[in-house]
Amino acid sequence: MTGPVWRRCEAPGRWQAVPVHHYKPEGTAPFRDVTRQLLFAHPELACEWRYFEIGPGGHTTLERHAHVHAVMILHGQGACLVGQDVRAVRSHDLVEIPAWTWHQFRATEATSLGFLCLVNAERDRPSLPTDDDMATLRRDPKVAAFIRC
Ligand code: MN
Repeated sequence: MTGPVWRRCEAPGRWQAVPVHHYKPEGTAPFRDVTRQLLFAHPELACEWRYFEIGPGGHTTLERHAHVHAVMILHGQGACLVGQDVRAVRSHDLVEIPAWTWHQFRATEATSLGFLCLVNAERDRPSLPTDDDMATLRRDPKVAAFIRC
């Protein structure tokens, strides 16, 4: 018998009966030291609540797509690129990733970065930057210094 979801937090970023997955299959996109967990999905809600954790010095994929993200930092420290803006992020910061906006999250070299990501259950696949996209992004020195591929 199953009732409503009730999952104890067992440790920071770990919940009862929530498996920790690889972020993406190795070799499909550039990233470093990231895990993914699906925390909550429900047929009555058209969204999913995921949790990602980036190890020290790690980063998510530089990507963009039609769907939107709402990201809430849960613990750790890092920085993110959203469009042409690079900003430091820490616990409880809230970040919107608008549609078709380049984005990437990085943990600092000393700390991991854990964050919730709210997203449409049905969504398009992320696009990766072409060489032309990279050249455009790198015109801004701040962005050039931030991105990892
Ligand atoms: Mn994304």
